[in-house]
Formats: sequence, structure tokens, C-alpha cells
Amino acid sequence: MKLLRTDEMMHLLQRLSDEGRVFLPRLEDETILFRRWEGDSPSLDALRAGNTALPAKDLLFPQTEEVFRFVANAQNLAIMSGEPDDAPPVIFGIRPCDAASIQMLDRVFLDEDFPETTYARRRDGAILVTWACTDVQDTCFCPTFGIDPAGPVQTGDIHVTDLDDELVLEATSDRGGTILDDLAEHLTDADQGAQDKVDSLREAVRESVVSAPAADDLAETLAGMHEDPIWEEMAFRCLGCGACTYLCPTCHCYDLDGETRGTEGVRFRCWDSCMFSDFTRMAGGENPRPTKRERVRNRFLHKLQYFSEKHGVYGCVGCGRCITHCPACIDIADFIYTVRGADCDE
Ligand code: SF4
Ligand code: SF4
Repeated sequence: MKLLRTDEMMHLLQRLSDEGRVFLPRLEDETILFRRWEGDSPSLDALRAGNTALPAKDLLFPQTEEVFRFVANAQNLAIMSGEPDDAPPVIFGIRPCDAASIQMLDRVFLDEDFPETTYARRRDGAILVTWACTDVQDTCFCPTFGIDPAGPVQTGDIHVTDLDDELVLEATSDRGGTILDDLAEHLTDADQGAQDKVDSLREAVRESVVSAPAADDLAETLAGMHEDPIWEEMAFRCLGCGACTYLCPTCHCYDLDGETRGTEGVRFRCWDSCMFSDFTRMAGGENPRPTKRERVRNRFLHKLQYFSEKHGVYGCVGCGRCITHCPACIDIADFIYTVRGADCDE
């Protein structure tokens, strides 16, 4: 562990900018969002506020992205690759739950047989600087999925614990280690006092997550609930707005669409949502998920059963965004308590 004076954080940001485009939390229209760092002094208020309103996934998997363009005439068809030339992102101040969610995106887009090349290129060069949560929101439940809200995560490169006047920096990958080595003149070794503060902060933050149901054998339990009346009850309340999936750091479904003007056209990829009625509608009109009941059931089972069966991890990191923003107050943590027959004080 190393110590960096908080008022010297610019040295860390400047070194990180050698690696790619740096993004960090900023306050914009009363909302905390990841925005490009332009070399100015970072906002500690934005870094210390709760998690960003939107996750950082669009820095690796943009909401809309050109795949290719074409020009056609009666004799020829020319196709121009839409491969972006942007440098991989450095995501500074990402919270542990959101950094853990990138592991889920990796499992889908870095599939051995069918890697998604633009995601792979960005992800390969990306650097994640995780920022320990020092307080949590009522809707946070990341410990359900084994995530320590103030601790480092496997996908990170450098982990920062904010002790007000000082930042404790831990390298959590070889690249992170090299970056900290390069900053040696600005860093000091963390003494026992700083390490004790980090340990007690981690414990206090973990304990402050008051509502984190145990996952236990959740996937196995859900495997027997396909026809349960709970889906009808939730579907009755759900508006099908898709906010839960757009805000979710682990949701990764997309559609391919196109526009043509005269002899030119473009094919593009854009986020899609399994909560929309046409998500599974086929060209002939058949729809295997014709009502909200099937769509709500799919959303929950995909995250908490199918993803776990396929990849060995749940497809949720307990960030709580879908709970905060669902207009129908559909709460995935409550759902887990209900399924497990536990109450919220367990
Ligand atoms: S945010 Fe709530 S109401 Fe909207 S689709 Fe998701 S579960 Fe349904
Ligand atoms: S399902 Fe909800 S709580 Fe889980 S990762 Fe997605 S937005 Fe966060």
C-alpha cells in the first residue's frame, strides 16, 4: 500500500493520461456522471458522492456504435469498416460493484469462439482505478454477490481508499503496479496506522450495508419457479419502460439496425432491452415472450439463474440502480428475500 496526498492527485491523473483517455465522475445538472478529464482539477465532491447515476459500461460498450458503412451501385458494393479509432479508456473512480460488473461483460463479449472485436480492443487497453465506497445507499446490496464495497476487485488495476487528506493506493494488477512505480517520487509507504484505518473503514462500510440478502442457492431455487405466481404479480406492476436494463451495468443486449439513403447506408449497433415487447418478436410475427409476465421473468431469471448456470457468477452486482429508478418500485433485493423465504432482517 502507498500513500498519496489528496492534493497531489493530479500526478496520478497525469500519469494515467499517458495510458489512454481518462474519465472520472463529475457533477452535471445535479447528476454524477463519468465525463472526460480535461487536465483540470478533479472534483473531490463528485468522487466522494455516491455511485454515478449511469454505470461506466458505455465507455467499453457504447449505447450506439457504427458497425460499417456501405456504398452500392449496380456494379459494385464497397464496405467501410466502422472500427473506432478511439484510445482505450482509463476509468478513474469506478466503484467496486461497477468494476465487478465488467467481469460479466467480459464473459459475454470476450467469448473464446466469438469475441466482440471492438469491445476486446477497448477492454484490452482499459485501466480501472476503483474507488472504495465510504458510505452506501439504502439500495446497495453488493455483498450479496461477494463484493466488498470498500475493497479491491479482481478487474481493477489500482484501488484507492480515501482517508480525507491522504489516498491509500493499492496496485491490483501488474499495469497498476507499473503506474505506481512511476509515481514513486510522490508516494510514501503506508504505515501501520494507515493500514489499520483502511481495515476499519472496510469493516464499517461492509456493516453499513443493511439490506443484502444472502445469495446461497438462489439459482437452484429459481430453477423450480418458472411457473410461480410471483411473475404475474410483478408483471402487473411493471410498465415495460426498460429503465432497469438501460441503467444496469451488467445488461449487455443490443440490436443491429440500419439506415439507407440512396446508394449509401450504415449498419449500427444500439442497446436493446428484454423488457420491450418487440425484443424477441420474430420476422414472421411469432413472439416467445408475448406478455410482460414472460419478459419480467426472463429479466430476473437471466440475471439470477441462467447467467450463473452458464458462467458460474450471478449477472447482478447489487448496485441498486434498478431499485432506485424503477417507477413501479420493483425491487430485486426484495425479490431475492422473497424467493429465499427470508425477511429483510436476516
Ligand atoms: S424499470 Fe421497473 S417498470 Fe420499468 S421495465 Fe424495469 S421493472 Fe418494469
Ligand atoms: S440488476 Fe439492478 S442491482 Fe443488479 S446490477 Fe443491474 S441495476 Fe444493479
